[in-house]
Amino acid sequence: MSNKVRVRFAPSPTGPLHIGGLRTALFNYLFAKKNNGDFLVRIEDTDQARYVEGSEKHILDSLSWCGISPDEGPLKGGAYGPYRQSERGSVYKKYVGELISIKGAYYAFDTKEELEKQRKDCEKTGSTFIYNASNRMGFKNSLSISEEETKRLVKKGNYVVRFKTPEKTKITCYDVLRGKVEVDSLVMDDKVLYKNDGTPTYHFANVIDDYKMNISHVIRGEEWLPSLALHWLLYEAFQWKKPKFIHLPLILKPTGKGKLSKRDGDKIGFPVFPIKWESQKDVIVGYKEAGFLPEATINFLALLGWNPGTEKEIFSLKQLEQEFSLKKLNNSGARFDPEKNIWFNQQHIQGLKENVLIEALEDQLIKNRVLFDKTKLPFIVRLIRPRLDLLTNMFHVSSYFFTPPKKYNKKSLKKVSGEKTLDILNEIITRLEGCEVFRSKEIKNFLEKYIDDSGLGFGKVLGLVRLAIVGELSGADLFETMELLEKNPSIKRLQALASFVA
Ligand code: GLU
Repeated sequence: MSNKVRVRFAPSPTGPLHIGGLRTALFNYLFAKKNNGDFLVRIEDTDQARYVEGSEKHILDSLSWCGISPDEGPLKGGAYGPYRQSERGSVYKKYVGELISIKGAYYAFDTKEELEKQRKDCEKTGSTFIYNASNRMGFKNSLSISEEETKRLVKKGNYVVRFKTPEKTKITCYDVLRGKVEVDSLVMDDKVLYKNDGTPTYHFANVIDDYKMNISHVIRGEEWLPSLALHWLLYEAFQWKKPKFIHLPLILKPTGKGKLSKRDGDKIGFPVFPIKWESQKDVIVGYKEAGFLPEATINFLALLGWNPGTEKEIFSLKQLEQEFSLKKLNNSGARFDPEKNIWFNQQHIQGLKENVLIEALEDQLIKNRVLFDKTKLPFIVRLIRPRLDLLTNMFHVSSYFFTPPKKYNKKSLKKVSGEKTLDILNEIITRLEGCEVFRSKEIKNFLEKYIDDSGLGFGKVLGLVRLAIVGELSGADLFETMELLEKNPSIKRLQALASFVA
């Protein structure tokens, strides 16, 4: 095995890619880039019963949206292909034969019914069903029956191949984050490695492929930690050099309790898939459709379980490629914080090229059938950008630039209005009519002069004007907004509020 860093993302196409899976892919990718290594994608589709149509495409398209491009994979090919396990049948067949011949595995002929019965019997006595060195001689397998009988039964074809777990021993494995992991072989099952339909199970295919593909580091989710001992023993049985294992800490629900699951997306009204997932049953919006930028999504995920060791939070993918290190991985779960996720998006929006924002806004205006003056879009974008959090919100937060308010926020109206509101509005209108140069600076001067003259509060006067212009007490810089709207439309909005309160 060469010393080159080679890592893989090995998803099973059993459903859409979840952001937890995306983070695993990202950490593998970053580790490869940082170490001038190779990052490959391998589709683990041995379990045809759990295969979900469209999920491979969803996984690969999600990676591509994020800019995570594999050096090798099912679409790109590579020297270690094929990269779909369903196309690697002959490899597993060869190695299962080898493992049996070196006595690391054996044939088992127990029927489903027989095993089921044993399982039920155990349940009755409150014990856990196990099939291993402690009792395997009591089952029907090539260790407990004669060689001839084995040959006859193998020919008939109704068998599985089981791993021969060592007898009563402590298995000591290593995980880079956790250090020593010890497992008692007594609690390990002789796991099925190969089925008689010629397909391997996950454990077998996974280990064979990692070996055959020269994987140097296995970086995967914590949920695979219980499989480590078996994988470790498989390497030992073949006398192969083991890769380094890194089991990433879980991503926790926003409450901090329990693993974030696909269903949590619905519960917290937040996407959990990078891009839209469409199946016959439903269409679920992803980060992309919800207005997130891929660079912000990646940045946020990178900091779920990893830290740069400094206060810096905003990173581009290129910067992450330079900074990532396994040493800075945390070994406890990382809480998924939807608000922080949006904050990252807002930060990355500040760095976007202006024409990207202009185009996005233009698209939304067309979709909403709003008439607009194209020459004003750059100014509008400049005004709304600082507080823009999601791209999909562009029209929502800028609609008052295009259409006068249809209604006024009740609470805000209550806050800024009083007995004299009509008089105040009329006075503002009269004064602004006399404002020859209708630019933000002059508008500001006019209004401030009025505040001085009238002795009214700043908030009251400007609040009223804002309410007339925007319909509520939020929005971009008021004076700039009025300049952009121009004099007559601005005055008309003030008149509209005046007749509303009259
Ligand atoms: N196919 C497994 C999964 O879907 C991969 C586990 C591993 O990376 O070893 O997560």
